[in-house]
Amino acid sequence: MNKTLILVVEDDAPIRNLITTTLKTHDYKYIIAPNGTCALMEASSHNPDIILLDLGLPDMDGVEVIRQVRTWSNLPIIVISARSEDSDKIEALDCGADDYLTKPFSVEELLARLRATKRRLAYMQTDTPGNDSVFTNGLLKVDFAAGCAYLGENELRLTPIEYKLLCLMAKNVGKVLTHTYITQNVWGSSWKGDVASLRVFMATLRKKLETESDSSQYIQTHIGIGYRMLKVE
Ligand code: CA
Repeated sequence: MNKTLILVVEDDAPIRNLITTTLKTHDYKYIIAPNGTCALMEASSHNPDIILLDLGLPDMDGVEVIRQVRTWSNLPIIVISARSEDSDKIEALDCGADDYLTKPFSVEELLARLRATKRRLAYMQTDTPGNDSVFTNGLLKVDFAAGCAYLGENELRLTPIEYKLLCLMAKNVGKVLTHTYITQNVWGSSWKGDVASLRVFMATLRKKLETESDSSQYIQTHIGIGYRMLKVE
C-alpha cells in the first residue's frame, strides 16, 4: 500500500510541528494547511486519504470545512478540539466528521486514531458499507436482507430497536455516531428522553454482543457524545 497522505489543518505552529514530526517518523506523508481556505484548496487539489482538522481556525469554523468537504468527498476526517468544546465535537460529528482528538493529546493517541482510521479506510475501499447484504466484524455477522444477526453460530435474539441500533452502527463501523444522530435514525426524533432510552437499549444490546465466549469489544461509549462500533481485527 502507498504511504497514507494526511492533510494537517492546524493554525497553532507548535501543535502542527508535533503532528508532522510524528507523521514523518511513522511513515505517513502529509501536507499542511494553516487555515480553512488553504485546507479546502489542498483537500481538493491533493485528494488526501485522511484530514486532521483543528476546529478553531483563524479564518473559518472547522465545521464549515467539514461541510464543504462533505459535498464532494467521504474521506475520513478526524477533528482536533480543545477540552472545553464538547458541543463543538458533537456538531463536527453531526456534520460528517468520523472521529475526534481532544487537546492536549499524546503522540500515542494520535497514532492510535490514525491506525483506526486506516482500518476504516481499508474497509471503505474493499467493501461498500451499507450496500453489502451481509456485514461481518469479528464473530459478529449481520444479515441485512434476512434481518438477522449472529455471533459465531448463534443467532442473536434482538428486539426490533436493538436490531435497528446494531444495523445503524454496523453501517457506520469505525465512526463515532452522536446521540442525536442515533436517536434521529432509530426513533425519528431527538429529545432528552430518547438519549436516556438509548442508553438502556445500548446496554442490553452490548450485553448480548459482548459475552463470555466472545471478549471482543464491539461498542465503544463516548461519554456525553455518543457511540461507535469498533472494527475488530
Ligand atoms: Ca486553532
